[in-house]
Amino acid sequence: MKTCLVVDDSKVIRKVARHILETLDFVVDEAEDGREALGRCDIQMPDVVLLDWNMPVMGGMEFLRTLRQQDIASQPKVVFCTTENDMAHIRAALEAGADEYVMKPFDRETLASKLQIVGAA
Ligand SMILES: [Mg+2]
Repeated sequence: MKTCLVVDDSKVIRKVARHILETLDFVVDEAEDGREALGRCDIQMPDVVLLDWNMPVMGGMEFLRTLRQQDIASQPKVVFCTTENDMAHIRAALEAGADEYVMKPFDRETLASKLQIVGAA
């Protein structure tokens, strides 16, 4: 089974994402900010990271930059979660190494198609 790390400071978003991902047969882990997510990745690198932008302590962008600088055998796919008004952020995230993005709020069908695009589902 594939693993997905859900990184979001919203407990509600994490819960919704976990539920959807589990119906898609992912093993799900959660982190509430970028720093916690880096710790999780140190222990076990997931196949996919579902990444929020705005989080306290360490945001999505800093997490992504740090992750992509790591010299590791296989980098996870990163799907960036954002809101509709964030086109500049989306561009910046893709340039920083995100593989795809998904608009919040997302449903099962949307998330499944994004995971397919990055080759994770
Ligand atoms: Mg947030």
